Amino acid sequence: MTKVQETRLKVIAELGGKCDCGKTGKDILVYAKGKYELKWWPQNLYAKKWEEIEPRLNDYYLSCMMCRRIKLGLTTIEHGGGASGKQGCDCDPCRLQKNAYNREKNKKMREDAKLLRQLRKEGKL
Ligand SMILES: [Zn+2]
Ligand SMILES: [Zn+2]
Repeated sequence: MTKVQETRLKVIAELGGKCDCGKTGKDILVYAKGKYELKWWPQNLYAKKWEEIEPRLNDYYLSCMMCRRIKLGLTTIEHGGGASGKQGCDCDPCRLQKNAYNREKNKKMREDAKLLRQLRKEGKL
């Protein structure tokens, strides 16, 4: 095991070793709580000396990917909600929302193209 891996395991153990939902092992990751300078992001953290890490342990938390998404509000889009429905979902409300989104986008593109032609015609471009 490398020093970095060793530190990572130590950080995880110190933070309780599991996600709130009970997941452990490879399913959980260490995340920084707020916005940090790059040198304190988890992946860079592991290269530091334990004496430097220990006082900052409270700035980190353990979570699996799913719980983190929920925590950040990334999975709270309702079917048919958001700008274009749920990502990759094919249910009717999501499809309708996606269609509306694409229609709007295409309309905007057509309008832009029209404006461009107009400006060219008038010799403004
Ligand atoms: Zn979890
Ligand atoms: Zn859906």
